[in-house]
Amino acid sequence: MRIIDSHVHVLNNYAPMEPFGDIGRVDRLLHLMDGAGVEMAIILPVVAKFSPDNNTECAQWARQHPDRLATMTDIQLHEPNAAELVINAKETYQSIGISYYPNSQDISWVLKEEHKPIWDAFSKTQLVCNLQVTPANHAIFVTLAEQNPAVNFLCNHLGLPGAFNTDNPNYNSLSPAQRLDNVYIKASAFYAAAKEPWDPKCPQALRYLSELIQLFGANRILWGSDWPPTGNHLTYKQSLEIIRVFSGLRENQRNLVLGENAANLFGI
Ligand SMILES: [Zn+2]
Repeated sequence: MRIIDSHVHVLNNYAPMEPFGDIGRVDRLLHLMDGAGVEMAIILPVVAKFSPDNNTECAQWARQHPDRLATMTDIQLHEPNAAELVINAKETYQSIGISYYPNSQDISWVLKEEHKPIWDAFSKTQLVCNLQVTPANHAIFVTLAEQNPAVNFLCNHLGLPGAFNTDNPNYNSLSPAQRLDNVYIKASAFYAAAKEPWDPKCPQALRYLSELIQLFGANRILWGSDWPPTGNHLTYKQSLEIIRVFSGLRENQRNLVLGENAANLFGI
């Protein structure tokens, strides 16, 4: 059984993790992957003031460890040169996907005609479009995915529901995307919405996950650890065991979520 972690960050200086800013070093990740039996991890670069060259660094690490690491490229899709950067990402960084964290609350610009070249670039390169979409933008995102059926979209962290209680207005608000087979969702960063983020048995989070699997099917959900931030709450291995041991998924579902889906979606 292949185990692929679809969401990690690797950087020597991860300022939000201070005073342990070097917690996200590549040697640490590889060691943790060995210990947990994780074959490959997909890196989402963090291009920020404290790590301006992280796209280049992650591409280097992926080249040095081609059987263990693959990388996305962080591109600011709202910038005017975004389409060109997407087109060049494979050649420049051997990228398998593009990661975008919007810089504003409202992403309705993604539907505007003037930004259409971006989605054409995704369609042409077949790079996966990995998005951090919050519930406020789920409706816009569903329209975007509907209008671009040739682009595969992957949403971070269960669609960022904020909390797992059923009276949360954002509970499963991504469900209208279930009919779109180009939409995938990461089972990652449970800690961000869990009431008890230290608990790998996390019953609320796992109920949410099983409902998501009912809605979308197990072939559209990808496990990711969100290491190193997840390490504030759980060990790396525990972040995997949430799915492998505690999820109650059937074996074929578990194999899909833990590795097969990532292998198929990213061609790795
Ligand atoms: Zn993350």
